[in-house]
Amino acid sequence: MLFDTHVHLNAEQFNEDLEEVISRAKETGVGKMVVVGFDRPTIERAMELVERYDFLYASIGWHPVDAIDMTDEDLVWIEELSNHPKVVALGEMGLDYHWDKSPKETQKDVFRKQIHLAKKVKLPIVIHNRDATQDIVDILREEGAEEVGGIMHCFSGSPEIAQECVDMNFYISLGGPVTFKNAKKPKEVAKEIPLERLLIETDCPYLAPHPNRGKRNEPAYVKLVAEQIAELKGISLEEVEAATTENANKLFNIN
Ligand SMILES: [Zn+2]
Ligand SMILES: [Zn+2]
Repeated sequence: MLFDTHVHLNAEQFNEDLEEVISRAKETGVGKMVVVGFDRPTIERAMELVERYDFLYASIGWHPVDAIDMTDEDLVWIEELSNHPKVVALGEMGLDYHWDKSPKETQKDVFRKQIHLAKKVKLPIVIHNRDATQDIVDILREEGAEEVGGIMHCFSGSPEIAQECVDMNFYISLGGPVTFKNAKKPKEVAKEIPLERLLIETDCPYLAPHPNRGKRNEPAYVKLVAEQIAELKGISLEEVEAATTENANKLFNIN
């Protein structure tokens, strides 16, 4: 069974054909998925979906691009929802220096607040990082995020940074980019980081793996990510599948 640890089936891109997308995932062997909500509408929709489907779980948080919009009420609301048995992590949270909607200081503040909350409610965290690696690593260390651990989602950094995150109790999640011909670093990470610390994801509808690059991504394509990791490590697809699923079940505390 494949476990897609990061999907946005709550995105409007799936409104028309969600049932078909889920059927294709099931046919491909995707047995579990975590739906990630990152603002009011996407969290609400994620909660609806996990109520409806037993194989879906939720991770809820506030995206750094929209950090400027998060209120204290939003944080209290996330804390209340985190008691729900199918909420298995907080996030995605982190820093995104590619877009400038939210100032860096606001992003850092909202990131720190969510780490505090995760420690309070004892849930792992899902980290979104774009062009902000050093600040992310510094904040995770300063805030003692090791206590809850979590996922570096769609990791695109070097094997050295990946190892630093592993040493802080984080898993490295690889997505579509590991299949891109020009993606040197994700391929190195796939080779060097032990299978015991790797997870797989699609981040659908974004970042579809080769040969579907540029199209709408969907959970069935997570198999392409697993196949690429198997090839890079010189092991079987079954081994990658078993290990990454076991890692995800353990991290999310799912039996
Ligand atoms: Zn993200
Ligand atoms: Zn995402």
